[in-house]
Amino acid sequence: MKTIAPIKGMKEWVAFLRTKGLTLGLVPTMGALHQGHVSLIRRAREENDKVILGIFVNPIQFDKEKDLLSYPRDIEKDKELASREGVDIIFAPSVEEIYPKGFSTFVEEEDLTERLCGEHRPGHFRGVTTVVTKLLNIISPDRAYFGLKDLQQSHVIKKMVRDLNMNVEVVVLPTVRDKDGLALSSRNQHLSRTERQTALSIYKALIRARELFASGETNSCEILQEMHGILHKAGIFQIDYTSVVDPETLEELEEARPDAVVALACWVGNTRLIDNMGLSETTSLKERLPALSSLEREAHA
Ligand code: AMP
Repeated sequence: MKTIAPIKGMKEWVAFLRTKGLTLGLVPTMGALHQGHVSLIRRAREENDKVILGIFVNPIQFDKEKDLLSYPRDIEKDKELASREGVDIIFAPSVEEIYPKGFSTFVEEEDLTERLCGEHRPGHFRGVTTVVTKLLNIISPDRAYFGLKDLQQSHVIKKMVRDLNMNVEVVVLPTVRDKDGLALSSRNQHLSRTERQTALSIYKALIRARELFASGETNSCEILQEMHGILHKAGIFQIDYTSVVDPETLEELEEARPDAVVALACWVGNTRLIDNMGLSETTSLKERLPALSSLEREAHA
């Protein structure tokens, strides 16, 4: 496995691999890798001859300086994991090279980014679409892999690729959760043990939404109110949003439908967490996460 920082070096490798007629899969990340990232790497491995893992903590997608400075980083551990997972190349460019002095061109999607997180994180998605465009231009992969954990991000990227006729297939994969249901996220490292316990209520609230819908409740307000109740009970009061949305347009739905997704963003201490779940997600949780049964019972109570 190679680790490459210079853009020129990365482009040369891509050109070399292309002369051999090999297909390339790109997994863009900000590092501090976990099993969610691993699921993307594994799929990329299955579908491409070579896998390139991007590791770049993108400063322009952070709306708070403190969040950027405290973002978890552990490149040595990431390298070990990437190597174990069969990554061929880590591309870890420097901030100075990605955003040289005088950098002034940005990519912006103007519709989907208005909703959900858009309102609460000004400039965030512009930062994401700009850096993803740069990575796609540098690497020209056949496929790029993203997680549904970042629901809005994956939709925005798919829209950008469509709108700008980019030659890449965007593959979006399901959220990987811890045994107790908490969606894996690099930011979970910031949570104290008590906060982590509190954060489980996010999962409980999503499960409850699904439960309510399954029992015939279609009034989104009612569903969201119950979710708020669960979050409040756990001590979460700073809630950026909870929303029942159309799975494609991300538009808010007053009337929940089987294909709707419930999404939320809230703060646990100083850590902002996001999560989402399809209201009719069919996977049996007991099958997927055996340790969950007691939690589920609690959510049902
Ligand atoms: P990040 O390093 O947090 O920017 O994430 C890099 C990619 O991994 C993004 O496409 C995320 O959506 C995806 N990802 C993050 N967490 C998870 C998860 N728990 N399950 C699946 N994919 C994830």
